[in-house]
Amino acid sequence: MHFVKELSQLIFPTRCFGCNDVGLSICSTCRREWHPHYYQTHISDLNIHSAILYSTTASRIILAAKENGLKGADDLIIDAIMHVLGKADFSHHNVQLVPIPSSPSARRRRGRSFIVDIAKDVSVQTGYPMANSLEIVRKVRDQSGLHARQRSLNMAGAFAITPGVYPRGDVILIDDVVTTGATLREASRALTARGFHVLASVTACVAQPLR
Ligand SMILES: [Zn+2]
Repeated sequence: MHFVKELSQLIFPTRCFGCNDVGLSICSTCRREWHPHYYQTHISDLNIHSAILYSTTASRIILAAKENGLKGADDLIIDAIMHVLGKADFSHHNVQLVPIPSSPSARRRRGRSFIVDIAKDVSVQTGYPMANSLEIVRKVRDQSGLHARQRSLNMAGAFAITPGVYPRGDVILIDDVVTTGATLREASRALTARGFHVLASVTACVAQPLR
């Protein structure tokens, strides 16, 4: 087994998820940018807790996890979310994690549901239960080229509760990045409209300033 591992290192050397340098899965330079802190953002009535300021390095790490399915990159995102959950004091609440779903086309392309997988791992590590309660009920555009107002129109009414998969207690929404908050606001709207209580959102990264 050891030999196989060494051989695979030879053929596929480990590269930094942030800058692609051969060596560690995150090099010391990129670690400076991907170093979990604690940021709180308020968008309308949402409290968003995040670990890392979004940067080119952070976007590469997220892409490595999201689009290339690299476990080491997943782990960096999981660690960031765990860090935030440790800093934010939710101990007096009956926490239930609810991941932000990805579009059916993204799921097909990636062969998995990215944030659901991340939230599952966080759930196992924290003991907080997870409910995969949200689903996308209409077509949404990729948000990357959209401004704040376009994002908010793009997401309005896009989420609904999956029948029978109801969260119990105080919902904490889980996502990789918050930019304008359009996605989190829509998720919160869908849950609140059905009488569920959204306590906060936790994201690995926060893009500042929110545009
Ligand atoms: Zn690097």
